[in-house]
Amino acid sequence: QLETEKFTFQTEISRLMSLIINSLYKTREIFLRELISNASDALDKIRFLSLTDPSALATQEDLTISIAADPESKTLVITDTGVGMTRDQLQKNLGTIAKSGTSEFLEKLEGAQGDVTQIGQFGVGFYSVFLVADKVTVASKSNDDPDQHVWMSEAVDDFVIAKDPRGNTLGRGTQITLHLKENAQQFLDQESLRGLITKYSEFINFPILLWSSHNETITKEQPATTEEVDEDADLVEESMEEDAEAKAPETETRLVQGWDRINTLKPIWMRNAKDISDEEYVDFYKTFTKSSGDDAPLTWSHYKGEGDVEFRSILYVPPKADPNFFQNLAEKIHNMKLFVKRVFITDEFDLFPKWLSFIKGVVDADDLPLNVSRETLQKHRSLRIISKHLVKKALDMFSQLAKQDEEKYNTFFKQFGSALKYGAIESNQHRKKLASLLRFSSSYDPSGASVSLDNYIARMKGNQKSLYYMAGMSVSEIENSPFLERLLARGYEVLYMVDPIDEMLVQTMPGYNGKMFVNVAKGALTFGDEDLMEEQKEDLSAKYQPLSDWLKETLKEHVEKVVMSKRLTKSPMAIVANDYGLTGHMERLMAAQGA
Ligand code: ADP
Ligand code: MG
Repeated sequence: QLETEKFTFQTEISRLMSLIINSLYKTREIFLRELISNASDALDKIRFLSLTDPSALATQEDLTISIAADPESKTLVITDTGVGMTRDQLQKNLGTIAKSGTSEFLEKLEGAQGDVTQIGQFGVGFYSVFLVADKVTVASKSNDDPDQHVWMSEAVDDFVIAKDPRGNTLGRGTQITLHLKENAQQFLDQESLRGLITKYSEFINFPILLWSSHNETITKEQPATTEEVDEDADLVEESMEEDAEAKAPETETRLVQGWDRINTLKPIWMRNAKDISDEEYVDFYKTFTKSSGDDAPLTWSHYKGEGDVEFRSILYVPPKADPNFFQNLAEKIHNMKLFVKRVFITDEFDLFPKWLSFIKGVVDADDLPLNVSRETLQKHRSLRIISKHLVKKALDMFSQLAKQDEEKYNTFFKQFGSALKYGAIESNQHRKKLASLLRFSSSYDPSGASVSLDNYIARMKGNQKSLYYMAGMSVSEIENSPFLERLLARGYEVLYMVDPIDEMLVQTMPGYNGKMFVNVAKGALTFGDEDLMEEQKEDLSAKYQPLSDWLKETLKEHVEKVVMSKRLTKSPMAIVANDYGLTGHMERLMAAQGA
């Protein structure tokens, strides 16, 4: 009698499953991508463990993924020799502990923008098996569990786990059997299966094998003839013709079966950049970020570091910024995968400072030791050197993009500009370089957000000494401000700082290329023609002295002084903060932060 234990799926998982099992998504084939990706993760894990404990592989030396279709039982079987799962892990990983992304993904699926192909990005890729199967069994053997166990579910509400009655057939690893739905029988077809596996296995660093069978025609060998050769030439010819007929090769067809290796193994980053097409780079990006559709990266850089440390890397700028990037600056974001000599080590490393953590990619280092803990590795000197190279490489990638494709660069800056500003605030070392990469709106191009500080300086008037800017909540707020008038009237360009981080930026970075930032909403302004202005101002001050005195008296509770201004052209008056006070915009920002 088989002892099974029954478990209920966590509520959200159960909801997700019923959505998946009942809907008719067109792109059901992605279940194969998810299973291959899980198998590859599991193989990465055991290979990593074996670096410090070589005996971990003893239970199964080969590291492979194998896939077999059985048309008779209508099943598809995917087997890996990865870490496997203990009984407890089967229960938790496949059904009871919901991932943080589950409810977010559910909402998306239930809503209009539901895209089932994104399932892997939300950490619930396994459940995509129910796109094609109505019954799934997962047999798994871990080194940490003396027994192999089977997980089984026919979807909907619950699943069962039992000790595998067949014994420890796997040695180590996981075997997933999909009982395909009636309408998913096409996944049994060997040729279409081969096509799909080829598509999803290109960037997998373990051999993927497909059980293949085909009919082979074999020619039976003929016994050598020992006929006597006739002396007569005619006769010889005749007999040869006869022979040709008689000895038409006898053939036989027989079924040949075996494992066919589907993928080639050289990782893309080890290949020569000039042999790799843009499409391959994009495909690789999609594979390792588990994204799909038109989630193509904005740009990338494939780099081979030589000299003090040897490593290779591919860095990508994703198409969009994470909307939560600034929500919690203390939270670590890890988008880089670290390999050492082709072996996946971890994706939980600080290879980039926070302000560059939006970059996704891979690094494969040759000079790092394989058999040490992640903690020891994190402190390793070579890794610090690699990090430095990567930061430099990332900045080069940005300036390259700025040079080559202005429009694309502006798209990039719209997404990641705030992160670069944050970098300019944080990093003394890279501030100058980052400053050259910044873009702003200005009176020259109010809506474009495409003005670089170098552009601004190139357009400066001969007598202009400062970089004029004004901060506000929006371009239109700034454009309506009376402070702007005088400068615009005199033909000066003013930078519009509408990003909340901008004012902090100019505080840490008071100037650029020898020119200082000057806030046009603050205190004294000079335009290089002060003398003339001064005379005019004295005349006017005298003329309007009575009005100034009256205003000062009337508003004495609210203002420090009332003076004649050189700044306004159309508006009669403006209330300004003094040089040491906060501007209205800063006051609002601080109020918003509860300061
Ligand atoms: P993710 O892969 O993003 O973690 P999945 O839903 O694909 O999410 O898988 C859930 C978990 O189940 C994995 O994190 C892993 O712990 C476990 N798992 C799935 N497939 C395998 C496998 N072939 N070998 C070992 N563990 C697996
Ligand atoms: Mg997965």
